[in-house]
Amino acid sequence: MGNFASDFMAELKAKNPGQPEFHQAAFEVVNSLSLVLDRNPEFRKAKILERIAEPERVILFRVTWMDDAGEIHVNKGYRIQMNSAIGPYKGGLRFHPTVNLGILKFLAFEQVFKNSLTTLPMGGGKGGCDFDPKGKSDNEVMRLCQSFMSELFRHVGGDTDVPAGDIGVGGREIGFLFGQYRKLRNEFVGVLTGKGLEWGGSLIRPEATGYGAVYFAAEMLTTRNQTMAGKTCLVSGSGNVAQYTVEKINQLGGKAVTLSDSNGFIYDPAGIDAPKLAFVMDLKNVRRGRISEYADKFKTATYKPLSAGADFNPLWDIKADCAFPSATQNEINAKDAKNLVKNGVYVVAEGANMPTTAEGVDVFIDAKILYGPGKAANAGGVATSGLEMSQNSMRLSWTREEVDQRLHGIMKSIHKTCVEAANAYGTPGNYVNGANIGGFLKVARAMMAQGLV
Ligand code: NDP
Repeated sequence: MGNFASDFMAELKAKNPGQPEFHQAAFEVVNSLSLVLDRNPEFRKAKILERIAEPERVILFRVTWMDDAGEIHVNKGYRIQMNSAIGPYKGGLRFHPTVNLGILKFLAFEQVFKNSLTTLPMGGGKGGCDFDPKGKSDNEVMRLCQSFMSELFRHVGGDTDVPAGDIGVGGREIGFLFGQYRKLRNEFVGVLTGKGLEWGGSLIRPEATGYGAVYFAAEMLTTRNQTMAGKTCLVSGSGNVAQYTVEKINQLGGKAVTLSDSNGFIYDPAGIDAPKLAFVMDLKNVRRGRISEYADKFKTATYKPLSAGADFNPLWDIKADCAFPSATQNEINAKDAKNLVKNGVYVVAEGANMPTTAEGVDVFIDAKILYGPGKAANAGGVATSGLEMSQNSMRLSWTREEVDQRLHGIMKSIHKTCVEAANAYGTPGNYVNGANIGGFLKVARAMMAQGLV
């Protein structure tokens, strides 16, 4: 780490204590950008990176709601409006008990670079609530969403800030949030993405993050004259991103053999084909059950509960070609990364945000595998949210084929930007540098042009 990077990190840590995930995300970026800042001293002089690392605005608010038994609960609601130099703030809402300021700031910071990479005019933001949707009734989730939006509506809008889903926020929650916004504002606008098809949603938005991650993996494989056909793939998570990752792997002729949730994982060497995936979608999206039920239903599969305190995840210790971490941050540590490489995995496309620890990333880079970091590989979700915003503005809907084609085109273009930026700065094949540099330059130029605001 050079002088600039270490000074930058020392200051960032001093100013933002107790936010390890935010430090981790910033550390990765500043390491990639040192050369860019050397070659472009005007960015350093204008303190562009320091400005990007400080949110334009942080909104923290109380969320109160009553459960079905009449008990009152108090949660924390957040929206981080990180950077709007190239467009309205855009980024998901996460409902999970682990949500805190540091996690949301890491997500919002990454979102700035990711959104820039998509080629669409979107700034970066992120938000959420430390609410645990597990085991809650639909009515409880609705009351929480209504309470959350009763404050958030003041700060968002179609041209200001357009949230979407993330962990714990899917179609059901977006519906409740949108309903409350519409009631309070008395306007029907594209203030959220991931909406239902009958009320302004876009075809392919639910599929987009997973499909995009597989398109990105396929692009990386083309650099070695290979395709997804015949590839054995490890997938973690079993939510939105994981489900559509499996669907696209199947469509491109690969075989997905694992899925997980926070209790454990299933391994199905016969492959998670379309009927099995339909079972998972019903299990997770309708019945809201646990992934262990998969192994009760399909005898080709085994279930392994996660053991608390283990220093590695056995899901990442299975022989395969590709890995698609699609659950949460830091789910692959250095030992997992070494296991993956040892077992022959040479393509990692991150559906989740920052699923690999800094030490794990070093393992992948040193092994020279095709490693696509989340801010590039999972950008298909927000890109398609951008397409939903365009359709809302034009008040029309594109066909499934048209949106999918655009998504595919955007993933190819993100891949190209990463490759070119990595080459231009002397680190060919390094998609981490490529994504950070490619994402940074557009935002930096916009900030320079717009003055010190
Ligand atoms: P979902 O809520 O639909 O699914 C999350 C999945 O990950 C569930 O299977 C969940 O298991 C598991 N999971 C969550 N937290 C943990 C944890 N701490 N330990 C182990 N497993 C966990 O979320 P998404 O699929 O939407 O999001 C998954 C990842 O993809 C996140 O990192 C998100 O930021 C990222 N992402 C999502 C996008 C989107 O469009 N939705 C866009 C870009 C990135 P359980 O049910 O047990 O909690």
